[in-house]
Amino acid sequence: MKVICIGRNYVKHIEELNNEVPTEPVVFMKPQTSLLKDNKDFYFPAFTKNIHYEAELVYRICNNGKHVKRKFTKDFYEEVTVGIDFTARDLQDLCKEKGLPWEKAKAFDHSAVIGKFVPLNSIENRDKEINFSLDKNDQTVQHGNSAHMMHSIDDIIVHVSQYYTLNIGDYIFTGTPAGVGPITIGDTFTGKIGDQELLRCSIK
Ligand code: ZN
Repeated sequence: MKVICIGRNYVKHIEELNNEVPTEPVVFMKPQTSLLKDNKDFYFPAFTKNIHYEAELVYRICNNGKHVKRKFTKDFYEEVTVGIDFTARDLQDLCKEKGLPWEKAKAFDHSAVIGKFVPLNSIENRDKEINFSLDKNDQTVQHGNSAHMMHSIDDIIVHVSQYYTLNIGDYIFTGTPAGVGPITIGDTFTGKIGDQELLRCSIK
């Protein structure tokens, strides 16, 4: 099982972090130990002082394959949820400055929070748009719409499967919209698709 993540997939989020707009998807991975499921609490780790939440649509891969052609990408996913890509922004800034890999900032234990999956065919507009949001202590801090992704889930599957064989049970985090910010002990986050709450995570 692997967690494949896409960075810089929404223009407004790229602008808020002053990053360059990439010409192809920015890809990184998280290991199995990064997963946090079933609405469990997140414990703020000692190695960072600044963790940001990044709410993202997360797809579960339901097929095995590599070099997936565009006409077959729909065979690779049928469920979606909201996730949080926790990012140690202070470590990431250091990594970026020094040109180092991002794993310490992105792939630490429980940095990949995932909600309850729902079938795509239960969501309206399956092929058009999925609206999702993240609330922090009952205030909405991020709103996203899949139609605003620079690289759609289909583009992402074509791209990443050139490099990595996709397997049943893999997850793809598709990048975060604008509105990222720091987490504090005591915060509770809730993630929704439409009005349906799929994720809850408290910071301890
Ligand atoms: Zn992210």
